[in-house]
Amino acid sequence: MGRMLGPVCRRCRREGMKLFLKGARCETPKCAFERRASPPGMHGIRRGKMTDYALHLREKQKVKVYYGVMERQFRRYFQMASRSKKNTGEALMSILERRLDNVVYRLGFAVSRRQARQLIRHGHITVNGRKVDIPSYLTSVGDRIRPKDRPKSIERVQAALQESNRQVPDFLVRTEQPVPEGQVVRLPELSDVSIPVQPQLIIEFCSR
Ligand code: SF4
Repeated sequence: MGRMLGPVCRRCRREGMKLFLKGARCETPKCAFERRASPPGMHGIRRGKMTDYALHLREKQKVKVYYGVMERQFRRYFQMASRSKKNTGEALMSILERRLDNVVYRLGFAVSRRQARQLIRHGHITVNGRKVDIPSYLTSVGDRIRPKDRPKSIERVQAALQESNRQVPDFLVRTEQPVPEGQVVRLPELSDVSIPVQPQLIIEFCSR
């Protein structure tokens, strides 16, 4: 399974916005984007106006980086969204938000999506009482997400909850006692995405 490697802060600088890829550090003055917002590379500051193609490409890349999705998987989501009866752009964003690693992160059970993926792969997360170790698992309405019933898993999730102290979006509910648990109460919508996104640009790019 492919995953994004390499320095992550460069990706925020490349996309021109904070993508919150590093957990708690992103909220501190140590954030690389806060210190230097120019694109990476020696010619970053001098870069001029973007072409139409670059504008579309950057929007797609931004969303891929934000959710930690590789190109092939992203294209698969685009195909799924195209077959949906909903607006394709909104359907695409809804699919991405439903990914288990995103849901675990947005519930505050991990400080970053990267950490959420690790928690899932290491078998710390259950969905409806069954262990799910696939970060791309698509959650459905009614799914209950909680740490595995063992001290190590519960402690890791509780530590992340304390560190992140994150508000949950409206499509999820979270209870913290006696064991942290989250539930998907409706399908996510475009308004639930926490960064500004123009899905139409992505759809136009992927439809070329
Ligand atoms: Fe992006 Fe700043 Fe977090 Fe680095 S620390 S990943 S630049 S938001």
